[in-house]
Amino acid sequence: MADTYVKCKYCGEKVRKSQAVIVKTTNNRNQYVCATCLDDYNKQNQDVQAYTKLTDYIQYIYMNIVHMDKNMIPWKRIAADIQTLEKKGYKRTGMLLTLKYAIEIEKIRWQDFYGVEKIIMSYYDIAKDYLLRTRALNKVGDTFEPDEEIVVHSKQHKNNTIQRFTINMEDLQEE
Ligand SMILES: [Zn+2]
Repeated sequence: MADTYVKCKYCGEKVRKSQAVIVKTTNNRNQYVCATCLDDYNKQNQDVQAYTKLTDYIQYIYMNIVHMDKNMIPWKRIAADIQTLEKKGYKRTGMLLTLKYAIEIEKIRWQDFYGVEKIIMSYYDIAKDYLLRTRALNKVGDTFEPDEEIVVHSKQHKNNTIQRFTINMEDLQEE
């Protein structure tokens, strides 16, 4: 049987179907990545997902905490802030956890800060320390798997719509 060729979603090259991996199926159509691209593709995909989660949370802050109209959210500035932080070596997942920590544990007043960049830079290390300590207090153990999750309960502000959130310790580790 003749081997058919498919296009790799990552590098765009044509590759034998038998040597490609299905990474996604949309409307019954398979999308392929060649075996050598799989790791890079997965990493890129995770980055995209991390970015979406980060911006979803920022949108949540603006709409539900700052009570700003959705189309008033300053996305241009937010995107620039995220980009600046990435150049400084901050990870997207770490940024998200830092914002969650600052909002839900520290209960910061968003209005006291000037943008995402300042909050993340002010709280990144504090958030990381807090999460490491919480882990110790929860007696999770000396070792933890990369995907181990810790639930942090937020004690104050019972009317806060987010009562708890889940933290993946790996997200705060330096690259
Ligand atoms: Zn490829």
